[in-house]
Amino acid sequence: MKRLSLVLVMLIGGCLLAAETTITLPIRFHITQGAKMTVKGQAMENWVQPADLTGPVLAEVNRIWKPAGIQFVVERAQAEALLKPSDFTELIRVVENSKRGEEEVAGSGRTAAIGKLLDPAQRHRTAMNVYLLPYIGATYQGYANLGGNQAVIGVWTDKASRAEKPPVKALLVEPEPMKVGSLARTIAHELGHNLGLVHPDKAEVSPVGRLMGGGRQGYALTEEEITKARKTAQKHAGK
Ligand SMILES: [Zn+2]
Repeated sequence: MKRLSLVLVMLIGGCLLAAETTITLPIRFHITQGAKMTVKGQAMENWVQPADLTGPVLAEVNRIWKPAGIQFVVERAQAEALLKPSDFTELIRVVENSKRGEEEVAGSGRTAAIGKLLDPAQRHRTAMNVYLLPYIGATYQGYANLGGNQAVIGVWTDKASRAEKPPVKALLVEPEPMKVGSLARTIAHELGHNLGLVHPDKAEVSPVGRLMGGGRQGYALTEEEITKARKTAQKHAGK
């Protein structure tokens, strides 16, 4: 009964929202260059092209966010050099040697190291800034700051093996139903954090896989998440 009612709430929520106006938010993609990383013998560089982002990736992100009436447009997608501070090599080492378990903790060693490499001059003041790096640390796929406008994504990942095997290239996009999760889904998930959404309790039983995670991974947004995300999106759009 609980399962059925949740599905119904989602369906009704989706129908009601279809009548509301679509909120459009710009994304600036930063395809960072200059970092070569090696983990467990796997050499990694950025392999994503601007056309991947403006084409299939944007399409999947928008497919995921459509039920919320939020659509993204690409403001810019280009290759950009990372900063080269004097401790550049050490900062790269911190990311390569990071351990599993520092999950999305703001200010952890790896997020601090990556933060020192991102060029603030390339940042758009109000658009969603999505930075693509070769790799962002063991079992990490992406991170963002709640309600902010920056997200950092790794185009290589070792999440599936729990960092026991060398990282592999993330799948660019994936048709439904979700099996492993794509780079596009990771971007959609991190944009969810920028829109104020948090992870559901892992112990919570959900009849459908959810974009923000929890007991089951997938694409669904609850009615509550949609309301919250739209409210935050309005604020971003009004800047
Ligand atoms: Zn997350």
